[in-house]
Amino acid sequence: MKYAEVILPLPLYSTFTYKVPDTMADSLSIGFRVLVPFGRKKFYTGIVEMLHNRQPEGYEVKEIISVLDSNSILRHPQLKFWQWISEYYLCSLGEVYKAAVPAGMKVESETYVSANPDFIDSDHSMKERETVIYDLLSTRDKLTPADIAKATGYKNVEAIVASMIEKEAIFISEKIVDNYRPKTEIFVKLNAEKGDNEKVGQFFEAVKSAKKQEAALLAYLDLSKWMQRGEAAEVSREALKERSEASNTILKAMSDKGIFTLYKKEINRFASNSSSQKELTQLSDIQQKALNEITESFKTHGVTLLHGVTSSGKTEIYTYLIDRVLKAGRQVLYLVPEIALTTQLTQRLQRIFGDRLLIYHSKFSDNERVDIWKRLLQDGEPAVIIGVRSSVFLPFSQLGLVIVDEEHETSYKQFDPAPRYNARNAAIVLASMHGAKTLLGSATPSIETYFNATTGKFGLVKLLQRHEGIQMPEVTIIDTLKARKKREMRGAFSTALIDECAEAIKRDEQAIIFQNRRGFAPIVRCKECAWTPKCENCDVTLTYHKRLNELSCHYCGHSMPLPDFCPACRQPTLEIIGYGTERIEDTVEKELFPGVKIARMDLDTTRSKSSYEKIIDSFSNRRTQILIGTQMVTKGLDFEGVSVVGIINADNVINFPDFRSNERAFNMMEQVAGRAGRKHRQGKVLIQTTMPDHPIIKYVVDHDYEGYYAYELEQRQRTNYPPFSRIINIYLKHRDDNTLTEMSVRFSNMLRQIFGKRVLGPESPLIARIQQLYIRQIMLKMETTASMSAVKQILRNVYEQSLSDARMKSVIVYYDVDPM
Ligand code: ADP
Ligand code: ZN
Ligand code: ZN
Repeated sequence: MKYAEVILPLPLYSTFTYKVPDTMADSLSIGFRVLVPFGRKKFYTGIVEMLHNRQPEGYEVKEIISVLDSNSILRHPQLKFWQWISEYYLCSLGEVYKAAVPAGMKVESETYVSANPDFIDSDHSMKERETVIYDLLSTRDKLTPADIAKATGYKNVEAIVASMIEKEAIFISEKIVDNYRPKTEIFVKLNAEKGDNEKVGQFFEAVKSAKKQEAALLAYLDLSKWMQRGEAAEVSREALKERSEASNTILKAMSDKGIFTLYKKEINRFASNSSSQKELTQLSDIQQKALNEITESFKTHGVTLLHGVTSSGKTEIYTYLIDRVLKAGRQVLYLVPEIALTTQLTQRLQRIFGDRLLIYHSKFSDNERVDIWKRLLQDGEPAVIIGVRSSVFLPFSQLGLVIVDEEHETSYKQFDPAPRYNARNAAIVLASMHGAKTLLGSATPSIETYFNATTGKFGLVKLLQRHEGIQMPEVTIIDTLKARKKREMRGAFSTALIDECAEAIKRDEQAIIFQNRRGFAPIVRCKECAWTPKCENCDVTLTYHKRLNELSCHYCGHSMPLPDFCPACRQPTLEIIGYGTERIEDTVEKELFPGVKIARMDLDTTRSKSSYEKIIDSFSNRRTQILIGTQMVTKGLDFEGVSVVGIINADNVINFPDFRSNERAFNMMEQVAGRAGRKHRQGKVLIQTTMPDHPIIKYVVDHDYEGYYAYELEQRQRTNYPPFSRIINIYLKHRDDNTLTEMSVRFSNMLRQIFGKRVLGPESPLIARIQQLYIRQIMLKMETTASMSAVKQILRNVYEQSLSDARMKSVIVYYDVDPM
């Protein structure tokens, strides 16, 4: 008998053993998806991790229901990579599987079942509900558990179905229903034979009195090149609409008249207009030198850091490296942070690499993810995959180079749910499994990376001049407390910032205003009794959103209308305090620069992929002159016309109570500053703060990375934080605060018996309750020389022991390794 170890998408540490029916024994291998029953309730799509002959003891082993693949959906060394992630970040293999494989490849309740017509209930084992379902299925070809639930009103249909399958009353009716649907596009063809100009004349007659239809007909003839070719070539409906402004209704009317035929056709998502390779940009001497140094460094280092200031041409250097690796027949993974992956960069790369560029966008639909996955499985063609964090999970073959752009970005770290991995670090491991090199790029390298690069673990290449010698922007600090006393503030704006923006607008240049709070105002408060609205699920105040006229929680989405009266003292005395991007926009639009075209970019205005692109597009085409936004505007965008950047309140960024606050503040300010003055003139950056003497600010003014690094490294050494130690945060969550207090104290004491002073806490984090769950945090600070795998083994064991108190079972416990 053969058995399979199957990975299920669950937070349980082990794999699960299933019997392989004889009929499947020959066709099943590692990396195949299988449908399996689990518990009494459910089916899962699992992945075969191992096949063996050892019969498990102590329980009855269930059988695999069906095999969903005829080939592995994983490529070596993917499984090994999953195992590394699971071990390193202390989560289950199932959680890695869940994150790694697109939902469309893990079908569950969509699975079709059919009645077995030969079934006879000889021992009367069928329960009443089972009989009902059997009868229902007998009248149909096939149904999903979801369909059955709808038709019968039964709950837990999967469980009933599973039991019926075991009785062989029903079976899985086909291999699988793929959620995945290929992308189709509608095409238009003229209903005329080759060269039949007479027919075309009749069509013109038919649309004579309908101007828009006439325009559409003309546009079609033009696009299809009827005049030159005399043939009714196919034209995509979108192209036709774009050319003639015809709507779907107009085209439908024309198809009803017999002029056009409209039909659907599957298209290749990856087809792009240009497949021919364009010339690479000629590198400047110092860029060429940097490229040579990288090449040299790769000979002795697996990982190399390119420390290049903003606008120094890092991206140009990447294209040379990519080109080289593609020519050697290998693949490239080009990681970008969540938001920077814009049309700007991809268009630039697409011009060079054509359809060998695959994009894995954070806003891609699941279908598109499945597409890329399947395409990478099918052909091992040399390709460059540009993608966000989760693209490290794609089935690469022959990876030759990994580029991590803006390697310092916190969005490379996944915080929730598990796996809580850092894609930069994971990519380094992935690259080494493939025998590939990794290039990290940043203008503001993370402290850990710069430490590694200056102590010889990584190679280091510097590119500290902007392309064409454009100067770094001039940074001015505005003390908002002083300015307010001197009456030089208007709301959140200093007059200095207003003046600079006005100048820029006069010169037809652009400005970016940065504020890292979205919504209208972060605080609403009663003047009389100091009441302030709090979320009922989380330990946070609600943010006021003016356009929606509601108060909402940025942690759980809970919202309520803004009351007219203070609910506590019944007075109409609620006041709005502080500035979010919506309020900044309001001020700019109504008070400061009426008539000037502005745009706001934050989470609220970029819910869809296209809205984000529209904002970027109109700003880079200079249709908008002022861009107001949160973090999103700091990331790798390249706008030629920007000469002024304003930071409304740097305090928000500096005052964050954790060991990375300086690092985050420096990176953020230096990156926003980097948006200014990219071409032709030195840009200006104005930073407003109440803490002008904060040490970090000085380094930003001087664009002094090295100085900042030395300062920060000393702080880290003094307080024993990374890179001088390694941190694992342990989180415990529970609905009941008392239980949680007791359990977290007990758990931390158990840890203290082993790790002693290395254990800190439990503490309530800054936000101590989210979505009705109270939170405690325990920090484990280990020496860098400690064996982390041993530490993690101990953590697992201690957790197992802690379960001897039954209350611990209801506490959610998870780990955040190398938190950011
Ligand atoms: P970074 O990635 O370091 O911010 P980029 O590669 O985006 O820098 O370069 C900044 C700008 O300068 C881009 O518009 C780019 O096209 C231009 N640029 C950089 N190097 C060259 C070069 N060698 N020739 C022409 N333009 C260049
Ligand atoms: Zn909430
Ligand atoms: Zn009140």
